[in-house]
Amino acid sequence: MDALSFEQARAVIAAQVPPISGAADLVEDVPLELAAGRTLAEDIVADRDYPPFRRSARDGFAVRSVDIAAAPTRLSVIGETRAGEPSRYRVEAGEAVEIMTGAPGPQGADCVVMVEYTCRTGDDVVIEQSLPPGKNFVAQGSESAAGATVLHAGVRLDYSQIALLASVGRCSISVFRQPRVAILSTGDEVVDIGQAPKPFQIRNSNAHSLAAQVRRRGGIPEILPIAPDRLQQTRELVEVGLQADMLLLSGGVSMGKYDLVEDVFADLGSELFFTKVLIQPGKPLVFGRAADKPFFGLPGNPISTMVTFEIFGSLALARLAGVADACLPFTEAVLAEDFRHNPSLTRFLPARLDGEYGRRRVSPVKWQGSGDLASIAKANCFLVAGADRESWDAGERIAVLPL
Ligand code: AMP
Ligand code: MG
Repeated sequence: MDALSFEQARAVIAAQVPPISGAADLVEDVPLELAAGRTLAEDIVADRDYPPFRRSARDGFAVRSVDIAAAPTRLSVIGETRAGEPSRYRVEAGEAVEIMTGAPGPQGADCVVMVEYTCRTGDDVVIEQSLPPGKNFVAQGSESAAGATVLHAGVRLDYSQIALLASVGRCSISVFRQPRVAILSTGDEVVDIGQAPKPFQIRNSNAHSLAAQVRRRGGIPEILPIAPDRLQQTRELVEVGLQADMLLLSGGVSMGKYDLVEDVFADLGSELFFTKVLIQPGKPLVFGRAADKPFFGLPGNPISTMVTFEIFGSLALARLAGVADACLPFTEAVLAEDFRHNPSLTRFLPARLDGEYGRRRVSPVKWQGSGDLASIAKANCFLVAGADRESWDAGERIAVLPL
């Protein structure tokens, strides 16, 4: 099987894992308080105009624009409208109504002069500024008209969408069920983190990084017992894992004598869509479907496991979770130092983005290779070196994938 480029592998995953439908068994209702991080399964419609009335955006005086064309101008104040009460006034020529931010505009007035540009004396106010009609009013329905769709199914809910849902009066909403993701670590040397490792054993960190990644992407991780490098036991655990919506394996996909993952899936009569991707870390990488479930055989080196889930596994998970836009959040930053690589692979290297807005600088973290957890724990992004370019100078922009 030919090795795929990074882009080709993403396209294969997108083609093989169609977005889930809104079928009744795949959705559930949740109260708004528990909706953050979930994926909306219904379109949301504005229940009324937003704003529901012509709203003042400032504290000041509601006036007729024509009356203040030759400011400074003295107007007579006929009353006051506070936020939370209806407007009882009609502004005629030469008149003003004192108004608060969030209050409905009085009839007749077509703009609001900020209090900072006025001088109140008794029943009069001197307006020191001319304004065009409409200024400092937000027209009724200008944000959303009643009946308009304000959110589409497939959006992952965060605080801004939650605010919108609250404002349209949705106490509960329909969201996609969270996919269950089985996590199976393989390797004779790998032991449970609660166990004291023998000198030649290592603790199972991959199950825990993957569980955190799955949870962050809206899935429910299910960590299976560690599979030793034996065909039969691995196969049995794979069959358990395939009862979930998706299966992630770590380890056992390289060329070693005991790398059994491909054999196990061949045994199960599964389809393999790719077994190698031209990236680093993580070149051996298996993606397929067995028992109608997508699965990934991720390389066992801890940083390879993280990277390959982040850039590939997460796409399949997003599709199963109903997320419509599963693009990776690539961005660019200025390199703090020269960078060179061998350009046949797309590289994802642990790196640090530092500095505030306008001064963002990225530099690779020094590391001892894809097993170096102490290094990746210091990183906050991957520096992404494209397969089509060999070198970048300090000060040039380079692609970055925030962690
Ligand atoms: P493998 O892909 O099975 O050849 O493993 C590659 C490297 O990753 C080896 O050094 C393994 O010991 C290590 N490794 C494999 N699985 C895990 C795991 N679950 N947690 C931490 N390290 C692992
Ligand atoms: Mg192994």
